[in-house]
Amino acid sequence: MTLTVAATNDWLRRFARSVDDNEQLLTDLDAAIGDADHGSNLRRGMLAVVEQLATEPAITIGDTLRGAGMTLISTVGGASGVLFGTLLLRMATLTGERTTATATEVIAALRDGLEGVRTRGHAELGDKTMVDVLAPTIDALDAAVTSGASLADAASTAAIAAQAARDATTALVARKGRASYLGDRSIGHVDPGAASTALLFAALAGALAEAAAVDA
Ligand SMILES: [Mg+2]
Repeated sequence: MTLTVAATNDWLRRFARSVDDNEQLLTDLDAAIGDADHGSNLRRGMLAVVEQLATEPAITIGDTLRGAGMTLISTVGGASGVLFGTLLLRMATLTGERTTATATEVIAALRDGLEGVRTRGHAELGDKTMVDVLAPTIDALDAAVTSGASLADAASTAAIAAQAARDATTALVARKGRASYLGDRSIGHVDPGAASTALLFAALAGALAEAAAVDA
C-alpha cells in the first residue's frame, strides 16, 4: 500500500483531534519542565491546519504537507510550531508533486524531516526533545518495512515504538529549550514535545490502518 493524499489529510486531521483530546496532558507536561503552553499552542496550530484542509484542499501530498507546515509556523508562536512545521515542510519537499508515496518514500521523507528538526532545533539524540521520539520511531518503521510489513502494519509497530521512546525521555536530562534551565531537575518528567510526537505517529498509524481497511 501507499500513502495517498486522502490518507495524508486523514493523518493531519487525526493528529489535530488527538492534540485537542490531549491538550491538558501536553500542557501539564510542559508545566512541569517548561512554560505550560505546549498543549494550547499545538492545539491552536492544528485547528488552523484542519480549517485549511477544509477550505484549501491540496491535490498533492507535498502541497498538503507544505500548507500544514506553513500554517503551523505562522499560527504557533512557540518553538513547537517551527519544529513540527519544519518536519512537515521537509517531508513536503521530498514527496513533492506525488499523489501517492511508497513506504520507502515515506520513510525517506520522515528521515529528511528529522534532519530538518535536528538542524533547526540544534538537538541531538538524548537531549530530551522530539528528536528522541522521531529518530527511534522512524528506525522502527524502516525496520518493519524492511522485514516485509505493509506500510499500515509498520506504522502501527512504529506507533508503539513511539510510545516507548516518549516514556524513555523521562530518564533524560533536558539540554534544549526552557527545560534545560532545570538541569537534573528535568529528570522524572516526559518531554512534552516527545509526547506530542508520539501522538503524531499514532495518528499516522490510525490513518494508514483506515486506508488499508478501505483498500481491502
Ligand atoms: Mg512551552
